[in-house]
Amino acid sequence: MERYTKIVATIGPAVASPEGVMSLIEAGIDVARLNFSHGDHEVHQRYAEWVRAGAAATGRNVALLQDVQGPKLRVGSFPGGSLVLSPGSTVRCFQGRMLSEEPDKIFVDYPYLLEDVDVGEDLLLADGLIHLVATAKKEDHLEARVVVGGPLGDGKGVAFPRTNLRMAAITEKDELDLKFGVELGVDWVAASFVRNASDVRRVKELAGSAPVIAKIELAAAYENLDEILTEADGVMVARGDLGVQLPLERIPLIQADILRRANAAGTITITATEMLESMTHSSRPTRAEVTDVANAVLAGTDAVMLSAETAAGAHPRAAVEAMARICATVESETSKNTVVQSYLNQQAAVASAIAQAAVDAAANLSCDTIVAFTESGSTARLLSKYRPNARIVGFTPVETTRRRMALYRGVVAYPFERRDYTDHMIAAAEKFLEKEKLSKRGDTVVMVAGIPPNQQAATNLLKIHVIGDRDGGMVSQRSGRMSPEK
Ligand code: PGA
Ligand code: MN
Repeated sequence: MERYTKIVATIGPAVASPEGVMSLIEAGIDVARLNFSHGDHEVHQRYAEWVRAGAAATGRNVALLQDVQGPKLRVGSFPGGSLVLSPGSTVRCFQGRMLSEEPDKIFVDYPYLLEDVDVGEDLLLADGLIHLVATAKKEDHLEARVVVGGPLGDGKGVAFPRTNLRMAAITEKDELDLKFGVELGVDWVAASFVRNASDVRRVKELAGSAPVIAKIELAAAYENLDEILTEADGVMVARGDLGVQLPLERIPLIQADILRRANAAGTITITATEMLESMTHSSRPTRAEVTDVANAVLAGTDAVMLSAETAAGAHPRAAVEAMARICATVESETSKNTVVQSYLNQQAAVASAIAQAAVDAAANLSCDTIVAFTESGSTARLLSKYRPNARIVGFTPVETTRRRMALYRGVVAYPFERRDYTDHMIAAAEKFLEKEKLSKRGDTVVMVAGIPPNQQAATNLLKIHVIGDRDGGMVSQRSGRMSPEK
């Protein structure tokens, strides 16, 4: 069953072997996520090697996504590993991340705890399960009342949804991790807890040539979505932390809004967290989870993501298989072109016009395949953003581009040698499509390229090509002499 929506799966202890990673690749993952909130460099290096080896052995195109932790605030530690907070009681919050010696004392590693957190503001601990309200500022600590209590484990997260925090966009750990990611040659980077475009820019500076996905998981990031979309190569609807920051019942509306605006901006979208959560222990998803994945597909997400389901769950392979089935089924019963995209005017104007025309032509001519000859992948991305009812075959001579395209909805990517002449390029593509049984003789395919080839020309060519029709169109012309419309 052909599937357009891509699957991102987090690698972790549940699949920590070459066979474990291989089982996810066989089940259909397109992107392997390395979560740098857990595990050291040695562990991630191994994961990356297993992913690359598994992709090579199966011939599948699998990208590596490095997810860096970002400035996530955490509590310190407790004797015995946790502390139970009872509702109505008062606790004292100190700045730092030490071991607390007293049962009413909590360390919080925010350096401006006393300056920035005002009386009446909320502290949400452990993914929002525990709720405190600041009641008084003392000389060296903050007093807070426990509104909703519960067990608080070592190092659990802390959020201040109503406080304007002064945080560095990147921690020292992130800097080291990003440097390591460049050495590993990761294909994508995801940046956690960014607030605005300049935070994204900081990560991009350290991410080498890897495109950066901004995780929308702070209230501030959602507020600044428009400017983030001008800087980021993609956005993640990071529902886990977003659901701590903002009321849970607003998450469905926010998700729809982020997907709509990011797609309209031509930016890649990932919908993440708890999509098949029950499968961390159950072999089947719930009806609600299936519906959640289906809705993200219908709303036009490029990719859906698995976190604990594959990293720490009991049924990692089954989770990927379930996700793949849901996506493919939803796509087969509805038009794949679920989101009608208007002109992507923020993008290169000529390339957008060509992509839109190509998708339009493919629909009118009922083509199964649109071919993109691409160096950077942007032609394939633009085509994808118009959400055609045809698969997009991305041909590229650049290996990193090929792997990046693994995340683009509806794009299958293959390596392709550069050719000096447009007719040679088309002939080689045609041969490949026939050999791989993607097209057969007599099929009409739409092709998009930048010509003259081999000179980094911007997308400027739309060709409607009948497979096997060697004399058609421009095939006999030397492309270098054609006047390129830039
Ligand atoms: P995380 O990010 O899994 O790294 O916390 C995703 C989210 O918050 O939803
Ligand atoms: Mn998060």
